[in-house]
Order: sequence, then C-alpha cells, then structure tokens
Amino acid sequence: MSDCLFCDIARAQVPATVVHETERTLAFRDIHPQAPTHVLVIPRDHHADVASLAGADPTLLAEVFSAAVAVADQEALSGGYRLLSNTGADAGQSVSHAHVHVLGGRPLGPLG
Ligand code: 5GP
Ligand code: ZN
Repeated sequence: MSDCLFCDIARAQVPATVVHETERTLAFRDIHPQAPTHVLVIPRDHHADVASLAGADPTLLAEVFSAAVAVADQEALSGGYRLLSNTGADAGQSVSHAHVHVLGGRPLGPLG
C-alpha cells in the first residue's frame, strides 16, 4: 500500500533495525522504546489492524504471533514479556498496518 510507513519499512524504503525476518513477517525495533526490549512484528502484506488480518488471513496472524514469540526467545526475555496489539482509536493505534508489540526486559506492571 502507498502512504503506509510499515509497508515502506517492509520494502526497505524506510530504514529500521530489523531483528527477525520470515518470508511473510518482519520484526524491527520500535523507534520510541517503552521497555529495554521493544520490537514491532508486522506482516509484510498490508492489513490495517489485527482484526482485518484475522479476517483476511488467520494463518498469517498466527505467523506474526509465532514470530513475536521467536523474537522474545531471541531477546532472551526469560523473565517474561508482553505481546500487545493496539486496535483502533480507543486503543491509540497510531500506525494503520497490523503489528504486535513485543515488550520486555523489566517488570512491566499492570496494563492501563
Ligand atoms: P501503535 O501506537 O500503532 O500501537 O504503535 C506504533 C508504534 O510505531 C509506536 O510504538 C511508535 O513508536 C512506532 N513507530 C512510529 N514510527 C516509527 C518509525 O518510523 N520507525 C519505527 N521503528 N517505529 C516507529
Ligand atoms: Zn502497510
């Protein structure tokens, strides 16, 4: 999709620190990390959010979550970690390309 930041990152038209790749997913460090490890995992294909992705390609959604677990493993988050997908305005989703945040490396506290 044109005019999508994460599509541009997936096409390497915008630089990012990539930490994990599969044929259909990409994981890179968040530019404003909220924890010692803060990685975003995206499908290479454009889907506006995880709800759209679940409807269009549930296998790809599973691949994104599997990649997120692989990132947590790679980052040695043995104390635990949080997988989070903001979906829609009330959740504060700011980039309309489905993504899962992988957060860890310190006690994260309760949500919200
Ligand atoms: P959301 O708010 O949609 O759940 O998450 C979007 C995330 O993308 C935010 O945590 C934000 O810091 C991150 N982000 C925004 N622009 C860029 C960018 O250009 N590069 C990278 N690596 N992350 C970005
Ligand atoms: Zn996109």
